[in-house]
Amino acid sequence: MPTKYIFFTGGVVSSVGKGVTAAAIGRLLKEHGLTVAVQKLDPYINVDPGTMSPYQHGEVFVLDDGAETDLDLGHYERFIDIRLNRVCNVTTGQVYAEVISKERRGDYLGGTIQVIPHITNEIKRRIGLVAKTTGAEIVLVEVGGTVGDIESLPFLEALRQMRSDIGRENTLFIHVTYLPHIGATSELKTKPTQHSVRELRSIGISPDMIVARSDFPVGDDLRDKIALFCDVEKRAVVPLVTTNVLYEVPLLLEKAGVGSYLLERLKLESRHNPDWTEWEQLVAKVRQPKPVVKVALVGKYVELHDAYMSVYEALKHAAISLGVEVEIDWVHSAELEKERGWEVVQNAHGIVVPGGFGSRGTEGKIQAARYARENKVPYLGLCLGMQLMVVELARIALNNDDVNSTEFDRSTSNPVIDLMPDQRAIADMGGTMRLGMYPCVLKPGSCAALAYAQPNVNERHRHRFELNNAYRNMLEEAGMVFSGVSPDERLVEIAEIAGHPFMVGTQFHPEFLSRPNRPHPLFVAFLRAVRDKANVGS
Ligand code: GLN
Repeated sequence: MPTKYIFFTGGVVSSVGKGVTAAAIGRLLKEHGLTVAVQKLDPYINVDPGTMSPYQHGEVFVLDDGAETDLDLGHYERFIDIRLNRVCNVTTGQVYAEVISKERRGDYLGGTIQVIPHITNEIKRRIGLVAKTTGAEIVLVEVGGTVGDIESLPFLEALRQMRSDIGRENTLFIHVTYLPHIGATSELKTKPTQHSVRELRSIGISPDMIVARSDFPVGDDLRDKIALFCDVEKRAVVPLVTTNVLYEVPLLLEKAGVGSYLLERLKLESRHNPDWTEWEQLVAKVRQPKPVVKVALVGKYVELHDAYMSVYEALKHAAISLGVEVEIDWVHSAELEKERGWEVVQNAHGIVVPGGFGSRGTEGKIQAARYARENKVPYLGLCLGMQLMVVELARIALNNDDVNSTEFDRSTSNPVIDLMPDQRAIADMGGTMRLGMYPCVLKPGSCAALAYAQPNVNERHRHRFELNNAYRNMLEEAGMVFSGVSPDERLVEIAEIAGHPFMVGTQFHPEFLSRPNRPHPLFVAFLRAVRDKANVGS
């Protein structure tokens, strides 16, 4: 069977949930017994989001193979429960870099390199790699941004060509738009949707389905109108009203008949009747009123919650499984340094210090770790949060405030966190990063081993610095347990504080592997300690 493609474009405005819609449709097709993979095409010129500020772009999501990708890949992996690979995120930067390096090698034999066909061919080649590397029967491809952006034109042109290359029965276009609500007349407007469909048509793409996002219920008359003006079958106009439960979206789309429509259009048969019981139970659990526990998330990019998307989701997943509602209180670590925001930390039943780069706010995070250790408040340190928990203890044990990570103080007298000797030679920023999946051996009886309930695990990394082995003995004597190490024991992967209800730091990012129905064991263990601290629930 030829690979089937579903292309997602966005209209009207961005940030209305195109990524979640694609992820939810992926889940829906999986429930019908088909294998799916998802790819995001990002029109920016960076080669990957790794070098972008989280303020610009939100979290960088890391895959098994170490690819630094758009946060939508996190939605895809969580909703569909799949593992994606580096071909699943393509940027304009990657496409141009490849074409230009081929040109320099002389691969084009003296031709003039143009957007059409050279750039579009490279885009199509990369789309083709998804099915080749994952074996998926259906590949979902989401184009970032909205139709009308200059940057996305080559991507849309490539998709247009694919429809004629491989045929209508193998390709399907879903356009995700937004219906604004006019307060004065209390009505939803379809005009921006009509305009964006017209824009899409002007570049040769006719959408097969319109998913109309809205904050208000969408009447049948509006569906008629969109169907008529946008020349789409009425049953392919799917209103998607904002829900407070993200994981309800696949259920809503199934109810709207999206599954059967897509299968019919792509000439596919459902392999089995979808069984949504698990998802329905999940959504019911989210909706149920539950005792509230509070977690202070002490970070640096807290103004933009997207910067901690996976941490947020992992906390929510663990909370669902434990029957509690987790309230996440965002604390700016630089504020703590100025003696502000401490009441939020003090009112919380647990503290998370997530990953981060650069020195701003690190002292505040160290203070938060000290507070957690001294007051026996459950603490989960993720990457930087682990490194700073080590700095905190070492400062006390050595009675020296000059202890630091060399990331923040190159001339510190005690570099407890440092580059590994073999990394130092490599000056190129980014080149020294430890990225992707690495194995970790757990110490029997430790908090981490009890949480995982298995001796060996694999987790995703994204960092440059490591715990300095010269300080291991000293830290152990001070009460730190190295509960996870690399198989050769050279790298500390997990550190915890002995005799504390739960103070665990991981050099890796467990949040990337959490799933709504399969919460990450470390997040569950952390929240269990948080629940005990709050003295609620069972
Ligand atoms: N900045 C630290 C390092 O590079 C931690 C990175 C992170 O938290 N992801 O090692």
